[in-house]
Amino acid sequence: MEGSYVQTSRSQLIRMRRIFLAGVASLLHLLLCWIAYAMGFMTLGLFGMLVLSLVVVGSSLMFLGLTWFNLNLRFHDPSLTIAQMLWAIALVFASSYFADKLRPVFLMMVLLVLMFGAFRLQLAGFVKVGLFTIACYISLILLLLAGDSRIELRLELINAMEFLLLLVGVSLLGLDMSRLRRKLQERNRDLRQALERIQQLAITDELTGLYNRRFAHELMDQQKALADRGNYDFVLCLLDIDFFKEVNDRHGHAVGDAVLRQMARLLQTQVRDIDFIARYGGEEFLLLLSRTDEMGAVHMLDRLRQALSETVWEGCEDLRLTVSGGLSRYQPKEDWEHTLLRVDEALYRAKNNGRDQVVLL
Ligand code: GH3
Ligand code: MG
Ligand code: MG
Repeated sequence: MEGSYVQTSRSQLIRMRRIFLAGVASLLHLLLCWIAYAMGFMTLGLFGMLVLSLVVVGSSLMFLGLTWFNLNLRFHDPSLTIAQMLWAIALVFASSYFADKLRPVFLMMVLLVLMFGAFRLQLAGFVKVGLFTIACYISLILLLLAGDSRIELRLELINAMEFLLLLVGVSLLGLDMSRLRRKLQERNRDLRQALERIQQLAITDELTGLYNRRFAHELMDQQKALADRGNYDFVLCLLDIDFFKEVNDRHGHAVGDAVLRQMARLLQTQVRDIDFIARYGGEEFLLLLSRTDEMGAVHMLDRLRQALSETVWEGCEDLRLTVSGGLSRYQPKEDWEHTLLRVDEALYRAKNNGRDQVVLL
């Protein structure tokens, strides 16, 4: 849950950054309008310029506000790419209507809007935006023709062709960029999954799926660090299956393997979520029992030995297995290797005392 929350807020930040950039581009275009106005190119009066400014600033703030308050998440595409692009294109065309001689320059802005889409849109999106742009262009020309401004048709035709060429070219480039971006994302995802798998393999014992010896050492480092910081106890326990060699000798190595796997599953059902189990050697398991003392650990092992005595082993129902165990509590500031030496000694005593028992040292 936490992961997905972080993921969401991170992609929200990326969206907000993009919307902010789009807002900056709109404001720069507005600045261009004002410069054109100051130089006498705009056919729009001061009031019209103020209305245009209000619309540009207001809509930029609206898109930013939608993302800020997470309202964009309610839409099918939370990045609002197409909506934003269509609105920006409409604004560029609206301002270019009043831009007189500067119209072709103003319309270049549409290409910048298309580049924004390069990061999100796919073919259908580009077609939609492209058709909308052409519709805007035709409307612009019709409006100009209907109005009293005298436009030169020959010039408009060549301008329109040039614009169409640029529109198609930039859309194709954008499409390519968008494809590359998606491929890169897919490759990154594959790499991430492969890395996770490798990490998993590096810490796992192949036969039983438990942690391996190497990772057990890392876990003990971590537990030691926690314990040395205070108020945290952990107990180490080594369990060794009694006379396991006989299982192999009598039933074969494959059955021996199956028994080890079943033993691993049994151990997993007996320990708590906060404990760790590793396969420490052939038929030897290390239990790392966190936040507990010796008595808690002994109780847990009693339960485990009880469960073991009731277990029916797959493939050899007549088999009865017992384990011997050594356990010791980590003493503050000592190396965990010292704890493990005591555990080893305890296990040795359990074996010497006749097996099927747990010794605490
Ligand atoms: P003890 O009670 O003293 O522990 O006797 P034991 O027979 O369990 O101990 P010993 O160390 O003599 O033998 C361990 C056996 O575990 C020998 C080895 O063949 C077997 N073993 C170790 N790893 C594996 C494995 O991955 N698969 C199988 N099937 N057997 C294994
Ligand atoms: Mg052994
Ligand atoms: Mg053994």
